[in-house]
Amino acid sequence: MGHFLKKMYTTLLCAAPPTSYISLKDFQNLYHKRKYLLLKTCLYITFLTLFFFSCLHAFVFQGIGDLAFLLEITVSLTALYFIISLKRNPSPENTANIATYSTLIFAAFLLIFNNLVSHQNFSLIWTFFFPVFAIIMNGYKAGLRYTIVFLSILLFMAYEGIGNWQAGQWNELSFIRLSLAMAILTFIIYINEVALTNAKLQAEFALEKLHSLSAIDELTQIANRRNIDQSLFKAIQHAERYDTPLSLTLFDIDDFKKINDQCGHLAGDNVLFELVTEIKHIIRSTDSFGRWGGEEFLIVLPNETLESAINFCEKIRVCVEKITFAECSTQVTCSFGVAHFQKGMTAEQLIEQADKALYQAKHSGKNRVASLN
Ligand code: GH3
Ligand code: MG
Ligand code: MG
Repeated sequence: MGHFLKKMYTTLLCAAPPTSYISLKDFQNLYHKRKYLLLKTCLYITFLTLFFFSCLHAFVFQGIGDLAFLLEITVSLTALYFIISLKRNPSPENTANIATYSTLIFAAFLLIFNNLVSHQNFSLIWTFFFPVFAIIMNGYKAGLRYTIVFLSILLFMAYEGIGNWQAGQWNELSFIRLSLAMAILTFIIYINEVALTNAKLQAEFALEKLHSLSAIDELTQIANRRNIDQSLFKAIQHAERYDTPLSLTLFDIDDFKKINDQCGHLAGDNVLFELVTEIKHIIRSTDSFGRWGGEEFLIVLPNETLESAINFCEKIRVCVEKITFAECSTQVTCSFGVAHFQKGMTAEQLIEQADKALYQAKHSGKNRVASLN
């Protein structure tokens, strides 16, 4: 039992240990999962509690014709229906929809229930759950709107009930106490939810920034060495497993030192950026393009034979030749070394082949595409 409760508790929290790094996507999934589990738990509690009370009303007290029984069994079965719907479709959209429907049904149930049993002490205590549920499940904006509507109706009823509710004991002071307590509770939950939402947005922003710092090259805004290395590794694994073609090209800007000398280092930086931006328009979304270092770049070309990869590099080479740069009038060209993956090759061997081909391209006059095979 202790083990079950502990497991349930950690599942509901479903937080990663604070020491481990998680990606933005994992963080968002975790956040959604927590909300999903919390909603499902609330629905289970509602289903079981109301089912129990409806049985009590039907078989011990008034019988099944009783309004309290009908109300409880309807809401209980609706909660069960929502649980099934959530299990079938746990998407964030469906979770948000079920949260809204549950909130509206919960509000209607509490208002009718209070009208039915207003003669009893403590029946109002259940209404305190409403702001908590509405704000946590629907977010602070929609949650606050639902709470205001709910409280307006409830407090109107409570005002009208002065002198009648709780066998006439419900008076002005009771009404003021209820209003104040509800207002304070709503305020605290609201402020807490705003703070949580902001903390979530800040964490998302920080994770996004961390990702871009660790994977994106600051100057050219394409994959950095680490990132392109990973893409190459994955592409090799895929080619090895599914026996698909894979090529890559390592290319280097010709005489870049001269460009820096003639136009200045800052203009050189802009040449790098503009050149990369132009090439980005040519490559396919399945290709991976990264800065290998300095003015040397790598493009991983999945599903390309050696021949088609050479043709593709030729296309880039011609495109680069034609670019006119904003801050440097010198013509810029690139040399390309192409390599094709053979089964059993490592990333290092593939890069080495492309590097040798690039060396060949440079030594046979630059502004050309070369391969070893
Ligand atoms: P080659 O045709 O043989 O490649 O001649 P190269 O002048 O391009 O020679 P090399 O590749 O050895 O030199 C690269 C130069 O690129 C040296 C370095 O100052 C410059 N460079 C590397 N990274 C950057 C950068 O981020 N910005 C600028 N402006 N220059 C860079
Ligand atoms: Mg160079
Ligand atoms: Mg170089």
